[in-house]
Amino acid sequence: MRISPTTTATFLYQDASRPVPERVADLLGRLSLEEKIGQMLQLDAREELDDHVLQKHAGSVLHTSPELIRRANDLTAQTRWRIPLLIAEDAIHGHSFHEGATIYPTQLGMAASWDAELVERVARATAVEVAATGIHWTFSPVLCIARDLRWGRVNETFGEDPFLIGELASAMVRGYQGDGLADPTAILATAKHFAGYSETQGGRDATEADISRRKLRSWFLPPFERVAREGCRSFMLGYQSMDGVPITVNDWLLSDVLRGEWGYTGTLITDWDNVGRMVWEQKVQPDYTHAAAAAVRAGNDMIMTTPKFFEGAQDAVQQGLLEADAFDAAVARILTLKFELGLFENPRGPQADLTGTVGTTAHAELNLEMARRSIVLLENDGLLPLSAAAPTRVAVVGPLADDAQTQLGDWAGGSGQVGWLDGQPREMITTVLDGLRGIAPDTFTITHARGADILTLEPDPAGATFPDGQPRPPHVVPCEPDQALIDEAVAAAQNADVVVAVVGDRIELVGEGRSTATLELIGGQIALLDALIATGKPVVVVLLASKPLVLPASVQHAAAVLWSANPGMQGGRALAEILVGAVEPSGRLPISFARHVGQQPTYYNQLRGQHGDRYADLTQSPAWAFGEGRSYSTVEYADLVLEQTSLTTADTIVAHVTVQNTGTRPALETVQVYVRDVVTSVSWTDKELKAYRQVLMAPGESVRVRLDLPVADCSIVDTAGLRVVEPGEFELLVGPSSRDSVLLESAFTVTA
Ligand code: BGC
Repeated sequence: MRISPTTTATFLYQDASRPVPERVADLLGRLSLEEKIGQMLQLDAREELDDHVLQKHAGSVLHTSPELIRRANDLTAQTRWRIPLLIAEDAIHGHSFHEGATIYPTQLGMAASWDAELVERVARATAVEVAATGIHWTFSPVLCIARDLRWGRVNETFGEDPFLIGELASAMVRGYQGDGLADPTAILATAKHFAGYSETQGGRDATEADISRRKLRSWFLPPFERVAREGCRSFMLGYQSMDGVPITVNDWLLSDVLRGEWGYTGTLITDWDNVGRMVWEQKVQPDYTHAAAAAVRAGNDMIMTTPKFFEGAQDAVQQGLLEADAFDAAVARILTLKFELGLFENPRGPQADLTGTVGTTAHAELNLEMARRSIVLLENDGLLPLSAAAPTRVAVVGPLADDAQTQLGDWAGGSGQVGWLDGQPREMITTVLDGLRGIAPDTFTITHARGADILTLEPDPAGATFPDGQPRPPHVVPCEPDQALIDEAVAAAQNADVVVAVVGDRIELVGEGRSTATLELIGGQIALLDALIATGKPVVVVLLASKPLVLPASVQHAAAVLWSANPGMQGGRALAEILVGAVEPSGRLPISFARHVGQQPTYYNQLRGQHGDRYADLTQSPAWAFGEGRSYSTVEYADLVLEQTSLTTADTIVAHVTVQNTGTRPALETVQVYVRDVVTSVSWTDKELKAYRQVLMAPGESVRVRLDLPVADCSIVDTAGLRVVEPGEFELLVGPSSRDSVLLESAFTVTA
């Protein structure tokens, strides 16, 4: 078809004063079948952009550098109806792939703050940066529940608890979408990956998820339902199949639950080439014609990176597999987004001058605030905080002490998903070594030794790419311990009063298709830690790792252990501030740490009813449990009292607990509230987080904390898949973590 550009605003849809539904209906009525199918396509801007826009009439593109966005917008001006493109990107902990943007801690790091308000501010600041660069849509947040720590995408999650995930995801969506789409700094949020993708087998990415509908409803769906009802404008699918059905065509989940029960009217996008995968990978569709027909029938609106959907969907109409109007609902939803964003009037292209918007000082300060809150102090024998009073020689050792790009983690400048940048500007990143050098008191002398290498890479003998042309990750080859490096680090330790050992993982061990079979430190790092601890010097282990790892036995003799999930650009400064006591540690684990990889899964809220609670050769208890984290002060809990202990399902539990800072430093305490349903009609978890409050206390201060919890939240999912409160005995458990030994208990009963 020959396309002649429209030059004047002569059509109803071009009239911004008309209501959006009218504009959508008018434009939809003008589109050819090809143009409708094209609107449903989101294609990779890095290849064949002209063809995508001019021939396939693509509705959206992703992975666009600023130059490509300008080019894409120029191309749409040449099309018949000048329908603007939705420009999408994975800006998931900051504006990931924009050089000079602010990169925050990963989602897992942010989750350790347990601070929804702070997460919302980070998302808002991210939206401001993203919107200014011409991007309208971010593929964030991730609402997957982390289950098996071997999975490569644990870092992208908010951890293992559905309630905490819901709180933080809701905040992040609010932050991105701001005051509504008319706000020029608002971007579309995406709740992903809908749903069950993280229930992997063996931690392997995108395996069939062995998961029942009841299990989905119990733990996997609630965070999604919450953001669906709160107006998250888009949902993205995962990659997995469940009960033999690829998620892309899971009619029950997409139509009955999402659109039906939850009344979701937002846009549903597949994951990367999900439609193609049904043909070439999962082999459940014979060709693109049938795959396209199935995807449309299941209610997908936007098809990510399956260019052959364009021909496949047209063939499906010709062969009678789809009616010609089968695309209308999806296209209407996509056009609605474009009208509501005001793109027809202003395509919101990249701003010419980004100073004052991207990578600003204010955002760096917010980033530092988030980084400080994301760090979890796991152990401390009293060495920390380091005292400034006496001269102190600090040996900063380890392969990650000064590795700026690794500190940013996955989905950031150096993580390799896009070709136009291989890292963020070094001067924007503060490593632990930089941080200590920058803020240590004058009494400190800082030395540095790398001590170990982690890994090298070998090409995968199966070839550089997968059948769809996507790059195949190279194989990781762990480095052997290097005695010369270890000797140098040991010498530095022996000449120091304190050793700060920064160890962890690297980007090659993190991400999609990069699950790990082990959780141990890779390369020369274990030998390094063993040698450092053998010196007898006090060693502070800083685990800078995308996800919980298993630390070697020698670490039991470390003076302190901190975990910092890739903490972003300000991470090294935040860590240094905590080490010297300029800032109090306050992070709490959003996810449990295993003692051994064979303990997987280690999440706290597992089902009751197995034989015993340990392995023959090892306990099942985690090394550090969900909710744990220390302060430099000590905090005590006492006097848990419920105002009423006999309640109905319409009531709210009101409890009070005294929390006292019994130490000599301020403490930000996260008061956690769990509920145990004593007898349930079907198997259920022994306890679940239902609420929490954060309380800042001066030394010696005692606070009576009020906790409110609707009885309606004390629910389970019954055999029919319905969420219900079952009358009977319950226990309210309040304390500093999910460990039974530290929780105060108070019983209550619920009557119908
Ligand atoms: C990932 C998504 C991501 C998409 C676009 C997929 O492979 O699973 O999380 O948003 O790629 O980059």
